[in-house]
Amino acid sequence: MGDTKSKKELVRRRPPRFELVAGALCLDFINTLDDRFSSQPKELLESYLDLARFGEDTGILEPAFADRLIETGYRSPSAAKVLTSAIEMREAMFAVFAAMVNRKPVPSAALQKLNGYMQAAAEHARLVQEKGEFEWRFDALPAGFDAPLWPIARSAGELLASDQLAFVRTCASNACQWFFLDTSKSHRRRWCDMTKCGNRAKVQRFYNRKKKDQ
Ligand SMILES: [Zn+2]
Repeated sequence: MGDTKSKKELVRRRPPRFELVAGALCLDFINTLDDRFSSQPKELLESYLDLARFGEDTGILEPAFADRLIETGYRSPSAAKVLTSAIEMREAMFAVFAAMVNRKPVPSAALQKLNGYMQAAAEHARLVQEKGEFEWRFDALPAGFDAPLWPIARSAGELLASDQLAFVRTCASNACQWFFLDTSKSHRRRWCDMTKCGNRAKVQRFYNRKKKDQ
């Protein structure tokens, strides 16, 4: 699912709705609860349509498949159920990753939930050989509304079991705190996105310094 060509097509079709800065699918997914630590968190997955759009933006759903899910998922009770599961899965992921980042014990209930989603994903995963290399693919057809959940669950499992886990961070901006994977050479990246949070923080520091000087 989601080869390079279809990703390009999809960008041209309509502008992306989600800011994908995390560097890992599962972390971008955790960030769909924006302003998580504020008194008024902002839910970016308000309807199943948003979940399908997330799948399209991240390239885990072929555009035509995303369209079909959006058309049939509109006002469908089973699609609404999948959205509830997606949010449950996201919060389980958040609990596990947040515990790791903060060096706290991982809540076993969250890990158990996440494992349930990972097992469901594994049932739909298969290895495909392309140009001599293997890659994981997920059932395209006949797939139901829960298709976007599988690659996201797999992404979390892969990241948790990899040596990259040590480089999962939360953005240093208190107003943001988005999760991201620090792939920089020095592994000292502080912001989810330099242009977004990094610059804002720089401006703030400059402003504070000026205030002190006065
Ligand atoms: Zn940030």
